[in-house]
Amino acid sequence: MVNCPKCGTEAANPIKCWTVSPAKRTTNEVVPEFRVGIFVCSECGSKFKKKVPSAAKTEQVTNIKKLAEKVKDIHGGLTRTLRTLREKMCILETERSSVLMEIESLKKAAESRAKALENEVNALRGEIQSLKELLGSTEKAS
Ligand SMILES: [Zn+2]
Repeated sequence: MVNCPKCGTEAANPIKCWTVSPAKRTTNEVVPEFRVGIFVCSECGSKFKKKVPSAAKTEQVTNIKKLAEKVKDIHGGLTRTLRTLREKMCILETERSSVLMEIESLKKAAESRAKALENEVNALRGEIQSLKELLGSTEKAS
């Protein structure tokens, strides 16, 4: 975070930015590179120069943030898919049981129909038999 030295307002992105590699070295340690940016305060309009966090770091953070968002998106998508699948399965389960019930009732209807037909056929056979007997007896009689 970079704040305006005059009014303390948090400044947005610098209008210009560059890396400074200090030539001076202290006796033992190497002074690391750093970036400097020129900012314009959105509040009071004053221009100022400030050290900014290294671009690589910011980029890394942004990438991680983006990755986290992507993961969140994927997770959200999966959750939605799971929910939809669960709902679909629930609907299919109900449909399945109603179809099974329908099949069961159709089977029963078909069975009773078959039985009725069987009875009818048997009755007709009986009739044929009695007709044959009648004919046979009249033939014999004549
Ligand atoms: Zn300011």
